[in-house]
Amino acid sequence: MYIKKGDTVMVLAGKEKGKTGKVLKVNPKDNTVVVEKVNFIKRHTRPTKRAPQGGIIEKEGPLHVAKVNLVCPKCNTHVRIRKRVLEDGRKVRTCVKCSEILD
Ligand SMILES: [Zn+2]
Repeated sequence: MYIKKGDTVMVLAGKEKGKTGKVLKVNPKDNTVVVEKVNFIKRHTRPTKRAPQGGIIEKEGPLHVAKVNLVCPKCNTHVRIRKRVLEDGRKVRTCVKCSEILD
């Protein structure tokens, strides 16, 4: 899993194709990510003290990690990532196109 919380990603497939957003949550267990303002799903909620009538809320649903790709700020588009180890031993992700370090 090379995508981290806080990354900006672009959606590559499905009805949200082409949208970009910030990663809010990463679920390495099921290989999904939650992207800000992408893939809204309706959820029925039970009545609570704060919302006594319950109701329907819209919330971002998880997307499979294969459906999104990291956006390189320099290339300004989604790019493939290469993992690299720096001289000081730090592992970073770099853009395949421009070699920009994305960490
Ligand atoms: Zn780049």
